Amino acid sequence: MEMQSLVLSKTPYGERHLICDLLYQNGTRKKAIFYGGRGGGKSSKPSKLELGHRLQHPKVTREKEGGLVSLSEWELTWNHNHIAGNHRAYFLLSFVCELLRSISDDYGEQSEDKLYNLLSNAVFFMEEDLVAKKFDANVHLGLFLVKLTYYSGIFPNLETCHFCGSALSLQNVEGFLANEGSFSCQCDSVTTREIIDGQKVLYSLYQLYGATTYRNRTQLTPVASNALKMALRYFLGQFHLSQESLKSYKFIF
Ligand SMILES: [Zn+2]
Repeated sequence: MEMQSLVLSKTPYGERHLICDLLYQNGTRKKAIFYGGRGGGKSSKPSKLELGHRLQHPKVTREKEGGLVSLSEWELTWNHNHIAGNHRAYFLLSFVCELLRSISDDYGEQSEDKLYNLLSNAVFFMEEDLVAKKFDANVHLGLFLVKLTYYSGIFPNLETCHFCGSALSLQNVEGFLANEGSFSCQCDSVTTREIIDGQKVLYSLYQLYGATTYRNRTQLTPVASNALKMALRYFLGQFHLSQESLKSYKFIF
């Protein structure tokens, strides 16, 4: 049976080989060794194994020690050409791959094909916007993060106030309760809630970006990076991760 997978990381192994984290179409993640994967050699072929590239290969059932799989037969089925030439795009791709590597063990097969499709869309449309010279890293980060939050089952409740149950809107939203994944209205004057500046912007990030598909991304306006940081902090908190644990975090803000 043929499988599709996306490259999430690559680490040189010896002079010519590569070890890559792969995200399979079914949401599982495997470490695979590619003999000769660094390219070069007599034919001086460049490596086809880059972050976000899509491969097709037979389903591997036998694992080596340490969970490594060896893929001797594989082909590249999609690749980007413009991301590596734009540092903001490349850092963003590194970041989203690192984020998926950090969480998909917890999450694994429950995600089915959602994580795979999300990354596949993210990379495909980044490339499309770079080709059209319309790439906005802020919009792409917002979309990826909001969709990832949604697919992870931790999307905040935007409908009703955590305390009084009143309908919420951009007009009356006041506070964000990160531990609860919910917002509150003006009813709550008690200081026990976690008040974060800019929670209206955060609310509108979830509302607008949550309702917009990658295909319709041109309708979106960039959001303040503060709101993106808050959304990321909330996401990481739910997975008991810190921003310090992500090496590429410092390159995207
Ligand atoms: Zn309320």
